Amino acid sequence: MTTVFAKKALLPSGWATDVRLEVSDGLVSHIEADASAAPGDEAVGYIIPGLCNAHSHAFQRALAGHTEQRSPAGHDNFWSWRERMYELAGRVDADTLTAIARQVYCEMLSSGYTSVAEFHYLHRDPKNLDAVDTMFAAISTAAADSGIRLTYIPVHYERAGFDDPEPLPHQRSFALSLPDFMAHRERAAATSSAAVNVGLGVHSLRAVSRESLQEIARVANDAFVPMHLHIAEQQREVDQCMAAYGRRPVRWLLENFDVSGNWCLVHATHMDADEVAAMARSGAVAALCPSTEANLGDGLFPLNDFLTHGGRIAIGSDSHVSINPFEELRWLEYGQRLATNTRNVVSLRDSHVGSELFLRALEGGTAASGQESAGIKAGSAADFVVLCDDDPMLAGHGDESRLDALVFSGYPLPVERVMVNGEWQVVDATHVQRDMAREAYSAAIADLGAAK
Ligand SMILES: [Zn+2]
Repeated sequence: MTTVFAKKALLPSGWATDVRLEVSDGLVSHIEADASAAPGDEAVGYIIPGLCNAHSHAFQRALAGHTEQRSPAGHDNFWSWRERMYELAGRVDADTLTAIARQVYCEMLSSGYTSVAEFHYLHRDPKNLDAVDTMFAAISTAAADSGIRLTYIPVHYERAGFDDPEPLPHQRSFALSLPDFMAHRERAAATSSAAVNVGLGVHSLRAVSRESLQEIARVANDAFVPMHLHIAEQQREVDQCMAAYGRRPVRWLLENFDVSGNWCLVHATHMDADEVAAMARSGAVAALCPSTEANLGDGLFPLNDFLTHGGRIAIGSDSHVSINPFEELRWLEYGQRLATNTRNVVSLRDSHVGSELFLRALEGGTAASGQESAGIKAGSAADFVVLCDDDPMLAGHGDESRLDALVFSGYPLPVERVMVNGEWQVVDATHVQRDMAREAYSAAIADLGAAK
């Protein structure tokens, strides 16, 4: 058993003082506020719950900084970026994926994420195209090595577009038949453990047929496991969906499927006012990835309208141009400020915007990852983040504005320690596997370069 004594801890009831936590078998077994320290307690500063990174493509970590040069044609956009991404995807084998994912998961933990929903469609290992489980095994190994809690989202991908039933050459390593995909999902689910659970997903409305989506959604809804898909990230997808189905993507999905609290709609950037209200009413979580959405020029999610209608949100680092949950939250709010020429927009529940954003992302991320409950309490998973209480970022901040300081100060994060499933994965502001992960990542990147 581990016992931790914190000066402050953010509990479901709010900030508490002198909090003693007992941790055993990966769970918080006992928690007491206004307690006294006991011999053997590990004394720490401030404890907050870890956030879920609700949308990740781990392999894209290797692309960060490599797509920022204007092409000679001068028509750079999401679709031209996608060509670069496909080119990388075709060269990532299972060993490379293990090294890249381990590195990015260690980076996630070091910045305060304690879990990740990995949206995985790189099903075929280029070294062995018939093996459809080795790439999942790579993700699973990387998660275990880093200690991050994993929600594996196997993602179905079968066609190039609404009117193109075959995948493009670059997409063939993503594509499985529906029976093969469902069998893969069954085998993955059989590996579930205390730190790994398995949901379901489809890449997007354009990448799967209506019939395949019906079958996958039926299985996800019957089991009430997380059901993820990209939707309405780009205006071109909206136009194509209108041409093929006569409806905008979110409207079509909501009219044709039983979308409820286990669904996670990634991006949902381009919605009209009716779609915003209907999606919020459905209970589905919007997974928002503002650093990636900005990097790709996607557009701005109608956040304030969505929240006003009772919508739920989570955050994701998606393509991993940034690994910092507080930066994602900051840009959610900054997008609204820039669009409306006002300040402190996301404050429907709390006048403190940083607190509101953090707690909304905590709740939504918990739902999107299929975890049982959010927050630090007796019986919950022992997943939390220790902040250094004498870091300058937090100096002068009391209980009311401590989370505001984290979200709205763009300084190095005061993350001192991180525990997941009862084990410390970050100690003294350093991931315990940092050196091994970096070395393997550098070697994998060198190999990728050599293979180019
Ligand atoms: Zn994505």
